[in-house]
Order: sequence, then structure tokens, then C-alpha cells
Amino acid sequence: MSEKKFDYFIQGKKAKWEVIIGLEVHAQVLSKSKLFSSSPTKFGAEPNTQVSLVDCAFPGMLPVINQFCIEQSVKTGLGLKAKINLNSIFDRKNYFYADLPQGYQISQYKNPIVGEGEVILDMPYGTKKVRIERLHLEQDAGKSIHDIDPDHSFVDLNRSGIALMEIVSKPDLRSPNEVNAYVKKLRAIMRYLGTCDGNMQEGSLRADVNVSVRKLGEKELGTRCEIKNVNSIKFMQMAIEYEAKRQVELLEDNKQIDQETRLFDTKKNTTRSMRSKEDAHDYRYFPDPDLLPLNLEQSLIDKLKKELPELPDEKKERFIKQHHLSAYEANILVSEKEISVYYEEVIKNCDKKLATNWITGDLFAVLNKKNISISKSPVSAKNLSTLIKMISLGKISGRIAKEVFEIMQLNDEDPETIVESKGLKQQSDPKELEKIILEILSKNKDKVEQYKSGKEKLFGFFVGQVMKISEGKANPQLVNTILKSKLK
Ligand code: MN
Repeated sequence: MSEKKFDYFIQGKKAKWEVIIGLEVHAQVLSKSKLFSSSPTKFGAEPNTQVSLVDCAFPGMLPVINQFCIEQSVKTGLGLKAKINLNSIFDRKNYFYADLPQGYQISQYKNPIVGEGEVILDMPYGTKKVRIERLHLEQDAGKSIHDIDPDHSFVDLNRSGIALMEIVSKPDLRSPNEVNAYVKKLRAIMRYLGTCDGNMQEGSLRADVNVSVRKLGEKELGTRCEIKNVNSIKFMQMAIEYEAKRQVELLEDNKQIDQETRLFDTKKNTTRSMRSKEDAHDYRYFPDPDLLPLNLEQSLIDKLKKELPELPDEKKERFIKQHHLSAYEANILVSEKEISVYYEEVIKNCDKKLATNWITGDLFAVLNKKNISISKSPVSAKNLSTLIKMISLGKISGRIAKEVFEIMQLNDEDPETIVESKGLKQQSDPKELEKIILEILSKNKDKVEQYKSGKEKLFGFFVGQVMKISEGKANPQLVNTILKSKLK
């Protein structure tokens, strides 16, 4: 673990301030159909083509609970090491908006399906536990579109009724970096579980961010503001930074913080007031009379628990033990399920240490440059594995390997074929290398004299000459050995 210490605070004119953050993450349940209807949930469909009579609240239509969505929530709860509540209740949260045809959202209020849990973060200054308060199920609203026509607003009800898991954290986060780590970890857990695709561009994961500040050392929480519906980690971080500074300035001017709901303006990178914060009682929550209380069998929970896949924390432990990785390396390799699968595929046939370096170094550089995920890697795990094996066996040098790797990115070609067809094989014949070396030494008699009289730095010069003549193909270890014996 690094020596780095936690050091995020806001330096005001009068004092240092601590930032307190809690997140309400809305995660779209990965499910083919909606929470209370059989309409499809595919992203990007023509507006209003995935809407049943239930989703647009025709009179007399009754919601029917989607058992699969329930199981997805239970799995997510188990992944958060949380208590699963055998009895939960669906409530109506009443408010009016054009994209909410029912006039209420079906949500869970007093009795959510999942209770307290935790998420562990790996920060540069150590591990940090973030407590989860609850996870409840609710339906999404439709989408209002205000920006395609100057005179009209439009409503798309495709999203109306899609299942969301609202995951509420305790106010345990203390910096934009911790928020970054938290959202990424949460997303990784759900992607490992297959309960949410975590695609933030498509709105599958968005968060309401609660921010307050207090003087360093104070115990009591300050008044918080809630920044609604932020759909990228970068925006969450910028919103927190802006909002914390805004609150510090107000407090240092002896002004009050109004508890309110704010919006993050992505063009100005500021937050602005949207409405004063409503309280829960404003929504007139009451149990939905169309839905029975949700009662789960313990046997179902036991079954789902047994079927859970290996999750990031466990996989990290296993990688450290089984593959002898550092905690740092293991963290990177389990950060996404696809990366861990790729890694274990590569090391089936080659050196683990080299594989770790190649994946986290060269391969990640390519993926970053192309801005693609590892599942779209231009080099397959199988071919990268072959390349690394060729290095270990001395068939090619590390330098040539980089060259081959470049070519592999074009068509994901087998490195053996590339090396064969381009004549890049490592020169490991001692006799041939000796010939080259003797030639170089006889051409550079002055330098040989200087070397022998103590200028040992020249050794590198001789190696460089061998590499130049062999076009980088000479086996470096052999070159070293032969050169040393010839220079004695
Ligand atoms: Mn919600």
C-alpha cells in the first residue's frame, strides 16, 4: 500500500472544510421486460414503440410484478453483502409530470427489498468501507424532450416502467476521487452479477449526489444539497467540487445553506437551484393497492446466493494468492470482469508476470488510445499469449515483440506467422553472433583499448552496434556473454 494520505478538503478564507457526500444511484435492472409490464426495454428504439397499456396508465390496467427483476435486485443486494428483506412493500410516490402518466411512481418507501450492506473501496491511502443504507426497486418515468423543437416539448414513454434499483449510500464519501472509486466499484459488482449493464451514456446508471460541508474536526453534519440526475462520473466530480466551494463561501459569509435540489449545468460546470427540497411527506406515499406485499422465500435467496459468480473482491484475493500479483496489479485486473477473463485466458500458456506487464502496459495503452474496452481489443488473448510465450522462449527479443505487437493490432494475426513472414526471429546462433561481434571489435580497435583501460561504459556502445547490425534480432543475453568473453 502506498504512503499517500487522504488530503481532500476545501481551503476557505477562514478554515479548512471537510466535504461529506452520499449517493443515490439509480441503476437500470438488466431485464428484457419492464418491472410491471411485458414491454421490451431495448435502448434506442423509436419513441413510444415500447409502451404497453400499463406503461401509459390506461384506466383499469393492473401492474404485474416481473419476477426476474426481483431476482436481479436480490442478487445485487447479495453482491453488496446486504440484508435481504423477505417482506417488502411497493408504495405510490405521488407527483405530477408530463412524462409520468400514472401521476405516481411505484417505488418502495418504508420497506425496501434490500437493507444495509457495504462496498469496499481501494484507495491509495488504504481500503475504505462505504456503508449502503438500502436498495429499493422502483419504476422509471418516461422522458421529456425539450431540445429538438423551439415551440414544443415531446414525451417518449419507452422508458416508462423500466425497473430501477435505487442504491442509497450512507454519507460516507469524502472526496470526488472516492466518488469515482465508489461508482466504478458499484458498477463492476453489478456487471459481474449481470444485473445492470452500467452504461452511463445510455443512462443505465445515474446518481443523485448529496453534498454538505463542515469545518474540519466538527462532528455534526451540515445542511445538504442534492444534485439531481448526474449521468457521468466526471460530472459528479465537477458538481461536487463546485457545490462544496459554493457552500463554504456561503457559510464563511455567515449565510445559510438552503436544503434544496440543484441541477448540474454541464456547459458552465456549475450547479443551480432547481427547487427547494421536498420532504418525503410531500409525496403522500402509501402502499400501492394494486400490488400485494412482496414476500420472498428464504429458499430462493439461498439458491441465488449459491449461484452468485465470483465477485471483484474475492477474485482479487484469488489473483493475489494464485497468480502472485501485488494488490495494486490485482485491483486493476479485476476492475472489470472482461479484463479478468482476458487475463486468465492469456496466462493459460505463458509467464504470468510478463502477461501482467503486457496487459496493463502495452495493451491498455492501445485500448486507451482507441478509447475502447477490452472486449473489443484488437489483439485477442490467445495471440497475446503466444507473443509473450515467444519472448520467454527467446524466439524474439522484447524490442522485436513491440514491433510484432504493432502489426498484430491490424488484423489480430498470429505472432508466429508475423515473425516468420517478416523474418523477425531472434538471432540465437552463438557462432553467427560471434562473427558479428568480432567484426565490430576489429572495426573499433580504439574503443576496445579505451574499454580495456577502464572506460566500461563503452560496453553499451558495443551492444548497440550488434543490435544495429542484427536489426534488433540478436539475443541480448547471448550478446552480453560473448562480448564479455571477447573483451577480456
Ligand atoms: Mn428514485
